[in-house]
Amino acid sequence: MVEEDQDEWMSYATAGYGGAVDPWDDLVPVESDEEEDEIVEDEDMYDDEVPSLRDLDAPPCPAPKGIRHVIRLGCCNYCLSRIGGRLNTDGVSPFDHGARIRAEAVSQDPSIAETEETYCPFCEDLFEDVDNIVIRILREIGDVEFSTIQMGYHISKELIEEEDALRKKFGARGAQPLKSSFAAAVEAALKEKLEDIELVKELPDVMILVDSLTLRVKAEIRPVFYYGRYRKLAKDVPQTRWPCRSCKGREGGCESCGGTGLQYPNSVQDLVGEPIRKALLADDTSFHGMGREDIDVRCLGRGRPFVVEVKKPKIRTINLEDIVEQINKQGIEKIEIDSLRLSNRSEVARIKETKAEKSYRIRFEVDGEVPEDSETQILDLAGVMLEQRTPKRVAHRRSDLVRKRQIISVENVLIEDNEIQFDVRCQSGTYVKEMVHSDEGRTTPSVAEVIGAQCSVLWLDVIEIHAE
Ligand SMILES: [Zn+2]
Ligand SMILES: [Zn+2]
Repeated sequence: MVEEDQDEWMSYATAGYGGAVDPWDDLVPVESDEEEDEIVEDEDMYDDEVPSLRDLDAPPCPAPKGIRHVIRLGCCNYCLSRIGGRLNTDGVSPFDHGARIRAEAVSQDPSIAETEETYCPFCEDLFEDVDNIVIRILREIGDVEFSTIQMGYHISKELIEEEDALRKKFGARGAQPLKSSFAAAVEAALKEKLEDIELVKELPDVMILVDSLTLRVKAEIRPVFYYGRYRKLAKDVPQTRWPCRSCKGREGGCESCGGTGLQYPNSVQDLVGEPIRKALLADDTSFHGMGREDIDVRCLGRGRPFVVEVKKPKIRTINLEDIVEQINKQGIEKIEIDSLRLSNRSEVARIKETKAEKSYRIRFEVDGEVPEDSETQILDLAGVMLEQRTPKRVAHRRSDLVRKRQIISVENVLIEDNEIQFDVRCQSGTYVKEMVHSDEGRTTPSVAEVIGAQCSVLWLDVIEIHAE
């Protein structure tokens, strides 16, 4: 899921401000059947159109003749302002500025007032839709809280190319292309409605995509990320939401999960994420941990680093101390966290990639008497390189390989009757239970091997994750 989100995000991130990459660039315009029909050859039809005005020679704007020519082509007031090459010195709107240029040109040649063109060939009357687009943007955002916004635009390739050719032929030198002009027009109009909002080119709170063809506006509320460390105090709490095995977590659940859709009623994801999701009026959460522990393993010490991603939040500012308190209250005896701080997508990647050493406390039972020098044998495992063939219990989802992992240190060996307990620090990715019971010889060496007795693990706690 994360990768998917990331891809989507990347394409949006490059979409703004007439950027180089257009996320909708790969769309192929749908050709209507009508257009595919053969055009009936009819000589009369062509009489009016040949030669086209666009083929005529005229000097580029701001020459008066050039201006009169683009007016004959149907140029709208906005485009007259942007391609006419006349300075807008007293800061009137581009529409008013264009109207002045037109009025002046018409006074020189009244015949141009009666152009037969029905729409502006430089923008296909796009600028007339700017206010309408702003209304749609505001409606699309609704009552969502945000302080930064990024805009992306889709304008059909044909229009871009056609405008480019016309502007280069008849427009003033240095006139802005359609896409950046359109973006500037929308953004200026938007700024009037949203004074306190900052327009940004990356990492916005809200991403807006405008399709100029359909005037469709799509708002994408970017997620909020929080970093923290969790301690897991109970043994029946999976890290992430675990769908019911019978109904696969379908909406409304089933009899065996009591309608929850969940195999386990609690998860670290929901114990941490739900209070945040509710406070932010958000849709859902994703939970990214720095590794994970088995469901029956507790995680103590300073806890395990995580980033919780809160999707489609309507609110982006909350009192984090209050939320931490609430999480700890609702999660009592199951999980707890010390603090939360704002995070971001790149920290998710960092957390996922970090290979932290971990310390564990493990307790196991020996079959029969504990052999005599067990303590020394166990302490001597410090520094040893284990060879661990993929354990049987995970073989269905992991490829069968032999991994080498080092035991960094061993301490606090405790022997009580036929039970042994010790603390061990090892490399990231060590299968600790297998290091004790040997997984039928798949892990070597192992505690069972060095003490020469069968061992079965009673419990395992993570006591420290050695990260930052
Ligand atoms: Zn125009
Ligand atoms: Zn179910």
